[in-house]
Amino acid sequence: MMGPILIIEDEPRNMKLVRDALVLTGYKTEEAYNGEEGVKLAKACNPVLILMDLQMPVMDGLEATQKLKADPATLNIPIIALTALAMKGDEERVRAAGCDGYLSKPIRLSELKELVRQFLDGQPAISN
Ligand code: MN
Repeated sequence: MMGPILIIEDEPRNMKLVRDALVLTGYKTEEAYNGEEGVKLAKACNPVLILMDLQMPVMDGLEATQKLKADPATLNIPIIALTALAMKGDEERVRAAGCDGYLSKPIRLSELKELVRQFLDGQPAISN
């Protein structure tokens, strides 16, 4: 059985949108509402993929990504950044922080699902 997809996002509406789309597609999900919670939960729930909002209270998505990529226990978990910022150079900034992929808001569900499938196809399912 495959591990969950961890969604780290502070806005309840975005959380619901992403969670509902993934659950309806057949994935298991876990949720955290800021970067600090997300880093803790990533170590506890062994996710196969992380969807990471960038702008969050307590700890933002870039800092959380840097922490996860600096820890041998979590560095292999792919991270897709979700960002409202659509400025040029953003993709380089999130990749420099260690994110493996990038999805700009507003989130289009077809794009989200396609990107998730691409990432999960590239790695073996984690049994638990
Ligand atoms: Mn946010």
